[in-house]
Amino acid sequence: MTNCQHCQKPMKPIAANLLCASCRENYWALIRQLGHVQLPALSSIMLKQAHIGATGHAPSRGSAPMPIDTHAQALITDSEAWLAEQAGKIRSAYAGYGWRKAWLAILSNRHTILDMPTAADDYAALEHISRRNEAALTPEDELIILGTCPTCRHQLTGTPDAESVTCQHCRSEWAAPAIKAARDQRLWQVQITGTPSDAAKELKRYGLTISRNLVSQWLRRGKLHATPTEHKRQYVFNLGELAALLDCHR
Ligand SMILES: [Zn+2]
Ligand SMILES: [Zn+2]
Repeated sequence: MTNCQHCQKPMKPIAANLLCASCRENYWALIRQLGHVQLPALSSIMLKQAHIGATGHAPSRGSAPMPIDTHAQALITDSEAWLAEQAGKIRSAYAGYGWRKAWLAILSNRHTILDMPTAADDYAALEHISRRNEAALTPEDELIILGTCPTCRHQLTGTPDAESVTCQHCRSEWAAPAIKAARDQRLWQVQITGTPSDAAKELKRYGLTISRNLVSQWLRRGKLHATPTEHKRQYVFNLGELAALLDCHR
């Protein structure tokens, strides 16, 4: 037995094959997605931004996918470089291809790509690129605050079910559950003044879903120790307490 060089699971040794069957499949799916979905979508963001810049109009803040703190151009450059590198390994002349031709060359050389001695490293590099692309292509209102980057203290955002997160500022990569756990600890130091509905909205930014009715209910039953203010229905809420109550409630 030998181990898959990507997921480390034991696998039947197949000649010159460093990736197990399921990693080969996932790797191939990422390659297809890069040229089929991600690069065209990133390019269209670039075009829109160029157009917005040219006409001087403010960018629309609708639900259209817009990169956050990430320049689509940088993501496109990294994606294209990855494709050119792989295409160049098939035949050195392919390294000079534009991304679409390089991608098509890769697609028509499936076995060469999957059996490449560098496949495990190439797959890991592509995973990283693909995750960053995915994050940039996720509409802003689907993103939540995952926490704070331990290295540079910038805010980390991502999708609610993200397993890992890359800091858009310092490019370091973190496991999302640990970042979230640290965030929930820090929520105990965060207070907001407002109505139960304001508290529910604030928690939603962290991906914690709670109805304002439930917040009101907890207040009435004395489960939640929010401090009333002189204004009607306005309280000082501790977000850590709310998050902890929500955790018990689920
Ligand atoms: Zn594997
Ligand atoms: Zn950072």
